[in-house]
Amino acid sequence: MATENKQSLATALDVAAFIERKADDFADRFGFGVGGSLTFDNQEKLDYYTGLGELAEEIRALAAPVHEVAPCKHYNSMPRYDHTECLDCGSVLADSDWGIASNKRFKSLEEARFYQKHGRLPEAQP
Ligand SMILES: [Zn+2]
Repeated sequence: MATENKQSLATALDVAAFIERKADDFADRFGFGVGGSLTFDNQEKLDYYTGLGELAEEIRALAAPVHEVAPCKHYNSMPRYDHTECLDCGSVLADSDWGIASNKRFKSLEEARFYQKHGRLPEAQP
């Protein structure tokens, strides 16, 4: 919906919520429960529904707060299998095949794995 008012521009989180509402509406109209889980009468509908959910999740990940870890100022890096670890502060720089976490620095490997999986830091839970 077009508007002159720049104050009311939707944020990425609004967009994600909007897409999720579309998915819910779609499920209400076309989905039905089988054994407690939602299903549809054909694969196209299921794919559409699943796709909306994934899209919302991806948009949420894009809108996640900018990942901030004080840059490591040490020069004591140890290359590991899929990341580089600082031997002084223990921070981890993910390699380029970490999806959303690629080439970002984290306080720990656990944090990096969490970010890769969820698109946000553990502390940033709603
Ligand atoms: Zn360091």
